[in-house]
Amino acid sequence: MHITVLGGGIGGLTAALLLGRRGHQVTVLERDIRQAGADLDADFFDWHRPGVPQAIQPHGLLAPVRSLLLAEAPDVYGAMLRLGAGERHEFDWFDAHPPHRPGDEELVTVRARRIVLESALREAAHRQSEVTLRQGTAATGLLVDHAAPLPQVTGVRSSAGPLNADLVIDAGGRRSPVPGWLAEAVGRAPVVERHRTGIAYFCRWYRLRPEAPEDPGRVRAGAGTAFATGGVFPSDNRIFAVALTVSTSDPTRGALRDPAVFEAVARTFAGCADWLALPHDPVGPVHAMAGLDNRWTSLVDEHGPLATGLLGVGDTLVHTNPTHGQGVPLTLRSVQWVARHADAHHGAELVTAYHRWAVDTLKPWFDRQVVSDRAEQDRLAGRAAPLSDTYAAARACCAMEDPVVMRARAQARHMVLPPELAYGTPEIRSRVAAWMAANPGFAPAAGGPSREQWEELTSARSGGNSRDKRMVVPAD
Ligand SMILES: Cc1cc2nc3c(=O)[nH]c(=O)nc-3n(C[C@H](O)[C@H](O)[C@H](O)COP(=O)(O)OP(=O)(O)OC[C@H]3O[C@@H](n4cnc5c(N)ncnc54)[C@H](O)[C@@H]3O)c2cc1C
Repeated sequence: MHITVLGGGIGGLTAALLLGRRGHQVTVLERDIRQAGADLDADFFDWHRPGVPQAIQPHGLLAPVRSLLLAEAPDVYGAMLRLGAGERHEFDWFDAHPPHRPGDEELVTVRARRIVLESALREAAHRQSEVTLRQGTAATGLLVDHAAPLPQVTGVRSSAGPLNADLVIDAGGRRSPVPGWLAEAVGRAPVVERHRTGIAYFCRWYRLRPEAPEDPGRVRAGAGTAFATGGVFPSDNRIFAVALTVSTSDPTRGALRDPAVFEAVARTFAGCADWLALPHDPVGPVHAMAGLDNRWTSLVDEHGPLATGLLGVGDTLVHTNPTHGQGVPLTLRSVQWVARHADAHHGAELVTAYHRWAVDTLKPWFDRQVVSDRAEQDRLAGRAAPLSDTYAAARACCAMEDPVVMRARAQARHMVLPPELAYGTPEIRSRVAAWMAANPGFAPAAGGPSREQWEELTSARSGGNSRDKRMVVPAD
């Protein structure tokens, strides 16, 4: 088939690569003239990407990213490791890994800035003879044949002229213009489920100095208070990010753009403080991002597919608030399905089969994010007591001591099993119960500043480091 992919981000490049390797002729249109190359720092820190504003934000790459790349494009994964990506198994928290159970080998976070993945993907796509990358070429509209029984997308208009295709893949990200173009062309709107999140993200990047160890050892990655969360993203090449999240209604949030305030506040969170205690140099300013939503866009309504010849992958299909790091796993899973099935179904059947699979397989993760965001928004906005779920807090603390419970926690966090299945076994329930019995009067505590301290730091621009000494609950 001749396939046109709109967008050369993570989804578009992966789609092109996997489809090209299955023998399809693929053209990728990417409007940005610049592309990820081998100079990771220049590409990451100096490349202004208004079309992909999240590119500078830290990305935790969960287990499905590694597993799917190892299955579909092991050369890309190998290139990521060569470019400096690290691997962190969830059992590395313990001195020794527990006796192996099937699937344990998957529970690995890939530690890398997203540019490492983009660079490895671009290089592989560039080498793939079936793939043509057209940088600096914007798609500007859809070509639609209305003579067919259902409107059929037959290609795209672009800044370089029209391009016909047997299949168009929309990988234009969360701001993709394609759903709007389609609605205009066929007179039926895609079905969009959308939830605003009300959470603002602030991050700053740091580089460990040569005398610093690789990482500070057994340190939790994040912690939360009633109104904020602080987390660390160890990445490639001794670079790490510290990230803070607050409610968009928090009046103090603007102060976090000041690097001195950001850092003083970050040092009051468990985990962040440990990393910032290592010899390091900051790289660049504080980066802020807000205005995020959870969005599910379906090209099938109650009457069936809106058109044939068009599928959306990645953020244009399912865009999730990043608190659980689901974006790249969902993107790669959607791409994998399309690559494996593009040949197997035709016309309306392909669109319907993809829709059914996505609703059954990806939508539950979207729905979980929506539910979790509501709770998170209420917590950050002070509408819910923090850590009110004592059982969940105890389970999280128990996982730090009991590898069997850690396994369940990792399966849920890495989207390997739905949380209700991972945690719902008699084994896990009895272990958590035993832990609670051994810790009577367990009192979950936030691992960050009091509100008073926070306001003092955000208004006075002074440093501080007052770690809470009670039992800190790790952020899930
Ligand atoms: C703050 C933040 C933090 C995140 N953190 C994580 C995380 O920790 N872990 C995780 O897994 N995910 C995370 N994500 C999500 C992740 O970034 C996305 O899921 C992922 O980028 C989706 O890839 P994509 O290819 O669909 O879109 P993108 O990567 O956005 O790529 C879309 C591409 O399409 C191009 N394009 C758009 N329109 C056109 C056009 N008309 N013509 C030609 N080209 C076009 C754009 O230039 C861009 O290159 C985060 C997102 C945000 C917002």
